[in-house]
Amino acid sequence: MTTTVILGMLCVHLLCFCVMFLLISTRLNDKKMGMEVFALGNLLLGLAYILQLLNDAMEWGIISVASHTLTLCAPVAYVLGAMRFFDRPTTVLQPLLVLATSYTVLQILVQSLFGNEARHALLAAICALLFLSMTVVALHGSRSYARDLSVEMMVFAVLIVGICILNAAKFALILDDGLAAIDMSSGFQKIFYIYMSFLATVLPPCAVWLVLRRLTDELRSLAAHDPLTRLLNRRGLMDALEAHFRSRTAGPAYLLIVDIDHFKSINDTHGHNVGDLVLMRVADVLKATARQGDLICRLGGEEFVIIALDTDRAGVLQLAERTRAAIEHCEVSGIGVKQPIRCTATIGVADEFTSAQVFDECLQQADVALYRGKAQGRNRVEWGCVQG
Ligand code: GH3
Ligand code: MG
Ligand code: MG
Repeated sequence: MTTTVILGMLCVHLLCFCVMFLLISTRLNDKKMGMEVFALGNLLLGLAYILQLLNDAMEWGIISVASHTLTLCAPVAYVLGAMRFFDRPTTVLQPLLVLATSYTVLQILVQSLFGNEARHALLAAICALLFLSMTVVALHGSRSYARDLSVEMMVFAVLIVGICILNAAKFALILDDGLAAIDMSSGFQKIFYIYMSFLATVLPPCAVWLVLRRLTDELRSLAAHDPLTRLLNRRGLMDALEAHFRSRTAGPAYLLIVDIDHFKSINDTHGHNVGDLVLMRVADVLKATARQGDLICRLGGEEFVIIALDTDRAGVLQLAERTRAAIEHCEVSGIGVKQPIRCTATIGVADEFTSAQVFDECLQQADVALYRGKAQGRNRVEWGCVQG
């Protein structure tokens, strides 16, 4: 009786969270992060347990076959949902239909060859193996594809390994004592469904937490980057600079301001869209010429800032000259561009600085150098400091 009540509550839980996942997925327009597939997983498992309630004697028949098939399809749906969450697009219905059909056929075969006990043992064994591989994938994820969610992945691994152990125990019990060992009144089934209820309560908020983290990370990234070039914007640059100078081992930084020459005439001659292509191309050139770890920002319009880290005056001069030459030699082609467009840029460099608070002063210093460079004919590098 107690187990039946627990199982009933478990069904209610699964179906309620199925609705919640669906509601969340309707709010996520483009990127649903697997929420709709998690909803499907909950629906399948909820239906599997309802069928189990209808057939608590575990007799062979269509209800039992459907219940076993749904029990196996549900965790596979969760895996497919997780793949979508981690940006690995995958079809869902086709693999689930193939699995459902083949497992139904397999059940009929096992039932006719070895009997009902073997069919139940088969489900427990396959589930144990499936959850074991899910645990391994979650542990692997905490060090690779989900390094930013390593704590969460460890928690998932611990929770999933619990179901793996319970299924392995169920398999062993069926082999030892037959189906009587796992009937509804047995202590084992009570523990099994209490643990499943615990998971059905704990895992959905965890999934929602993951979605929330992704959304807030995306919002933070949007707020810190320029939408056209995907470079840092001024706010993102200030955050990154502050983070850099917070480190005790942080060395001085150098600020370079890069301004495209006669950009207005590119816009006027070829149109604003082509002007945007030029901005994107120059952004790519800056990314390619700067060293890894340097900070690159689109300050606004056709002005960019590079913050060179871990270098000295000679290194900065080399970087500035390399950048100037790379922009001069780059060609912009694309939709709406009849002949490749070339452009040049003037670069102003400020003296070294060691704190984010003096960023504005450095910018001013580099700006003065930049305008000197513009006045002296453009396409050149100018220092805003007295060179020692
Ligand atoms: P100089 O050599 O002295 O730097 O001249 P310039 O024409 O590059 O500079 P000016 O400041 O006169 O013109 C900058 C132009 O950049 C004007 C503005 O319309 C254009 N601009 C600003 N933001 C964007 C943008 O996002 N896309 C495009 N296509 N143009 C932009
Ligand atoms: Mg300009
Ligand atoms: Mg300008």
